[in-house]
Amino acid sequence: MRVLFAVSEVHPYVKTGGLADVAAALPQALSALGLDVRLLLPGYPSVLKGCRDLGLIASLDGVGALPPCRLLLGFAKLLGVPALVIDCPVLFRREGGPYHDPYGTDWNDNHLRFGLLSHVAALLASDRTPIAWVPQILHCNDWQTGLAPAYLHYHEGKRAASIITIHNLAYQGIFPPSTLAALALPPRAYAIDGVEYYGNVSFLKAGVYFADRITTVSPTYAKEIQTAALGFGLQGLLTARAHELVGILNGIDTVAWNPLSDKHLARNYDASSIDAKQANTAELRRRVGLEPRSNAMLIGIISRLTHQKGLDVVLQALPRILALPAQICVLGSGDPALEQAWRQAASEHSGQVAAIIGFDEALSHLVEAGANAFLMPSRFEPCGLNQMYSQRYGTLPIVHATGGLADSVVGAIPASLAAGTATGFAFTPLTEAAMIECLHAACALWNQPELWREVQLQAMARDSSWRASAIMYYQVYKSLTEH
Ligand code: ADP
Repeated sequence: MRVLFAVSEVHPYVKTGGLADVAAALPQALSALGLDVRLLLPGYPSVLKGCRDLGLIASLDGVGALPPCRLLLGFAKLLGVPALVIDCPVLFRREGGPYHDPYGTDWNDNHLRFGLLSHVAALLASDRTPIAWVPQILHCNDWQTGLAPAYLHYHEGKRAASIITIHNLAYQGIFPPSTLAALALPPRAYAIDGVEYYGNVSFLKAGVYFADRITTVSPTYAKEIQTAALGFGLQGLLTARAHELVGILNGIDTVAWNPLSDKHLARNYDASSIDAKQANTAELRRRVGLEPRSNAMLIGIISRLTHQKGLDVVLQALPRILALPAQICVLGSGDPALEQAWRQAASEHSGQVAAIIGFDEALSHLVEAGANAFLMPSRFEPCGLNQMYSQRYGTLPIVHATGGLADSVVGAIPASLAAGTATGFAFTPLTEAAMIECLHAACALWNQPELWREVQLQAMARDSSWRASAIMYYQVYKSLTEH
């Protein structure tokens, strides 16, 4: 089974969120099952640098306002599977993020950047491909590759089956109707049964409308996106396609996130040496400037600072959280107002609240290992990764029971404690009162070390490897190729 996995970011070369982690892990897990998977990536400077043995395999003509480009093939050891890289200097060879300039403003040619990614993905998945390796499945991810199924639809020859995975419905890639010609889509595509979305062109709607299957990253999120509350305007279309929509919970990279071999920790540990975790707690406190207070539960947070993540509720509740007693270590970046609010909270509660503003991969590992508990009060969370990293590190997640958080964390309540299935704490609805009540319960358990230890061990034993998820993706692929 040949699969082209088209994606706009991949760890460790370019990452803004969980999508990059999935792109790094799922293709490798599929490849371990025996599938022939190749990545298709934009040629950002970091990708060109990371894939050293890149060789030219085709030159592609421009079309519409999409410039000509070169297709390179390489193998980066860190990616584990071959990568096809689109080398288009005018669109991709620039400093800054994949979607924003260095000042945080969207690139003004994002429609062309990701229009080209989608166009090349569709070309390679069609009988017009210039290369010999022809996929049976085109696997698209989020809005950045959402136009690919539309290009395939308007292509008249033979084509691969397509699936689109929604990692986050909140980002849809919406551009004015004038972009249609630039993107080389036929005028008839601008229709309700096409790429049109409330008077604009939507990349994601195109993908959701035209892909042969839709997947999203947890079973609960698959249901939630069919509702007005979390459907971001696409709930009608998603409900209409519900029988072709499936939720598959992400796994995590269990090699990068292994407390026994993690190089970023002060001391390594596993379930049999969990007491060594305390050395990481001490080191984390020292590193971020928190007072050493053994009676205060240390709560970690690693997050993009956006409305989605619900950290405004934590800020509101801060005095009550600190009174538990607890300390908070936040590592995050994003919305400048939230960054400022956390900086301010840290200065007001110096020694009890630490706010590290920025993206720091190494520190994120120490936070996972050093914190006692990990808080994720997301308003919505398609899957979420940190709650699974936390479980693996024996750091009990405290989550709002939504999306993948609801699917991966079994909240500690009397029944789950008695059954030995609890792996964290969960609350709903997302209100200050419900969160505080849950934090109180977590603190109470933390003060009963033997019970806490039991839940830690249950969390650490949870299988969050990619293999099980990869098998489910394989089944989706098979359902599309076996007629
Ligand atoms: P999302 O994709 O919505 O950002 P996920 O939980 O799926 O949320 O994935 C977030 C990923 O990004 C995790 O691997 C998390 O550790 C990482 N991350 C987020 N913010 C930071 C940060 N400031 N520093 C280091 N890693 C971060």
